[in-house]
Amino acid sequence: MTASHFLVTNMANHVVSRAVPPSLSAKIVGSFAYLTVRDRLPTILTKAVDTIHRNKNKFFEEHGEEGVQAEKRAISLLSKLRNELQTDKPVLALTDDMVDTDMWNQYLQRQHALMEENECPSWFKSPWLYVECYMYRRIQESLRLNPPICDFDVFREAKMQSFFESQQAIIAICTYLQGLNKNIDELSETHLLDQFQKLLQVALWGNKCDLSISAGQDNSQKSSPVDSLESLKPFILVDDSNMVWSILMNNKRPGGAEKLQVDIVLDNAGFELITDLVLADFLVSSGLASKIHFHGKSMPWFVSDTTREDFEWTIKQTLAANHKWMSKSGAQWQRYLKDGTWFYHDHPFWTLPHEFCDMAANAPDLYSTLQKSDLIFFKGDLNYRKLTGDRDWEHTVPFEKALRGFQPAPLCSLRTLKANVQVGLQPGQGENLTASEPNWMTSGKYAVIQYCRPQREQ
Ligand SMILES: [Mg+2]
Repeated sequence: MTASHFLVTNMANHVVSRAVPPSLSAKIVGSFAYLTVRDRLPTILTKAVDTIHRNKNKFFEEHGEEGVQAEKRAISLLSKLRNELQTDKPVLALTDDMVDTDMWNQYLQRQHALMEENECPSWFKSPWLYVECYMYRRIQESLRLNPPICDFDVFREAKMQSFFESQQAIIAICTYLQGLNKNIDELSETHLLDQFQKLLQVALWGNKCDLSISAGQDNSQKSSPVDSLESLKPFILVDDSNMVWSILMNNKRPGGAEKLQVDIVLDNAGFELITDLVLADFLVSSGLASKIHFHGKSMPWFVSDTTREDFEWTIKQTLAANHKWMSKSGAQWQRYLKDGTWFYHDHPFWTLPHEFCDMAANAPDLYSTLQKSDLIFFKGDLNYRKLTGDRDWEHTVPFEKALRGFQPAPLCSLRTLKANVQVGLQPGQGENLTASEPNWMTSGKYAVIQYCRPQREQ
């Protein structure tokens, strides 16, 4: 490469980076971001207040009068938060002492610098991704500042309920998994691919079960997941599963790398988490992968997102189930965690408001951890929004371009569409959908299996 070529390339990159489209924001009246901030977020706050209030007796039993006082103070902080949101008040600095408090306050400065002169970051003026994440962090702050109840997860009841309401579907998928595992060594490559695609799609559609999009309403899986896959296929807008398969298969064939590590960046607890565990089990028992690293949230997040407590609770519940194949699955998952085949991590970066293209600079330790992976699955909508920066991209922009340099390893997004950002479509595909179904990007009816591998390997 000549010096002048290098300069031109750099200048071109510079031009590209300046041409990044704006963040989605509630400042566009009538947009999905606007409706979310106006309607859905206050509803979630109201439910959080109700949940804390309903647990008053529990707080009294555990902490006496001090618990009741903490409950009152937390509720008053949440009511104040709801009022700030609804009246578009400035975003305030956090005042608690968590490990990420400084990072949040620095990010507020950064958002401030992006505003017009004399304007402050606020709920209806700042990027939607930022203020939505900020709301969940403020819920955490309102508990954190009230020590006896600081570890209370306001969303746990909803997550547990969603798990129990999906029992039949969980039993069905665990039974399917155990049947498959019996003869897994005898499956031909074609059959293995077929099963891989089935379980990948189960994990994809498991992402429909999201309590933040339904503002906490029941959104559980009721029917048997494998049976409905064929009828759901037309709703997968991008299906790169063959490219994902080739990464896994290169390992399995003679001469392939011996230890293939797959990372799964989780989204929701409940049925979706079960589908992720089933996929992980299949990858290990088929020999397609030897290690699985799960990544969850370090605090309650977007109502139904998986925390360490949810992860451990789910496996314990599966193990303790009064059903042979479900219980057997839980026992196997427990063993995988004990013998170091599976790992669970919860880095604070996952609950920061940053786009993932910031990760290398703002969370270099996490970025280098992900670089060790052979394949990273990013589950769900929030991860997709962070992968693409939650920006107003044209639908035909390549996925790789929207990642803006975030390429720690080959990665695959498994996402049902619940926010109006979607890249990597064919020309006309987005327009046709908009013409026939104006809310195709937010209804959760459509999905993508979207893959990108680092440039250096292409
Ligand atoms: Mg979620």
